[in-house]
Amino acid sequence: MIISGKEISAKRKEDLKNRIDVLKEEGKRLPKLVVILVGDNQASQTYVRNKENGCHYVGMESEIIRLSQEITQDELEQTIQRLNDDQYVDGILVQLPLPKHINEDNILDLIVPSKDVDGFHPANVAKLVLGQDGLVPCTPKGMMVLLEEMKYDLSGKEVVVVGRSNIVGKPVALLCLANNATVTIAHSKTKDLKEVCRRADVLIAAIGKAKFFDRSYVKDGAVVLDVGINRDENNKLCGDVDFESVEPVAGYITPVPGGVGPMTIAMLLENTYQAYLKREG
Ligand code: NAP
Repeated sequence: MIISGKEISAKRKEDLKNRIDVLKEEGKRLPKLVVILVGDNQASQTYVRNKENGCHYVGMESEIIRLSQEITQDELEQTIQRLNDDQYVDGILVQLPLPKHINEDNILDLIVPSKDVDGFHPANVAKLVLGQDGLVPCTPKGMMVLLEEMKYDLSGKEVVVVGRSNIVGKPVALLCLANNATVTIAHSKTKDLKEVCRRADVLIAAIGKAKFFDRSYVKDGAVVLDVGINRDENNKLCGDVDFESVEPVAGYITPVPGGVGPMTIAMLLENTYQAYLKREG
């Protein structure tokens, strides 16, 4: 069965839109997301536009700050400080990647954790590790929502996450652990990857290699969540999973496009709303 992230994200955005409509009716201040875009990277421009459209759709306020590729570390840091201090800003997102002369870690660390809607700040990472309430990275959170909407209970299940990045692999593994799954994190040095993957009740593919996982990696009936965004030999968008090969054996599978991807923006909007609620007490 195909899990439609497109449909589930649309439903979540509709719910959020309704909640923001209520704020409007009550004459309350609306949640606001600010996105900082440095330089003119084409892909980044598209991602930022999608985020802005998402804000418009649910009725949130948004602002895109476009900065020159030549901006200095100091100037960028001052921009973030100003947004940290702005009482009308609930979420701050710095679109990555940043130009090479900018120290990315220092920039992300400067965002006040309560406005860090990407969930990348060390304070939010620590909260995730400790099982405390914080802002959770959007793509991993989106996968948890997909499972939740499917009413899939992770308790006692074998989850194999392939990929150990800070933005996807590690946080999604922690979220599965928090939901009582038995979690294995595999990576490029893992031995017998196929055998490890075949143990999985839930296989999470997050390596960034087009159609890497065919059906020989998948246990019959497993849930397969495909995070990858790649181009195949015909320049067509595809995931890390070879969908045609795996779909007949998987119990549930997310397609690419239309699976995990659309959840990411929906979760960014939900994180901004969560930050807003906390600020408003
Ligand atoms: P990343 O930082 O490049 O990390 C890739 C991970 O995969 C690394 O841990 C690497 O292992 C592991 N890996 C690479 N080749 C492998 C192999 N042959 N066997 C086993 N493990 C292997 O990637 P990322 O940022 O997590 O992104 C992963 C994919 O998800 C990309 O396609 C990206 O575009 C996509 N993505 C999608 C969304 C979305 O919204 N849907 C969001 C973020 C990312 P080592 O650590 O050992 O090198």
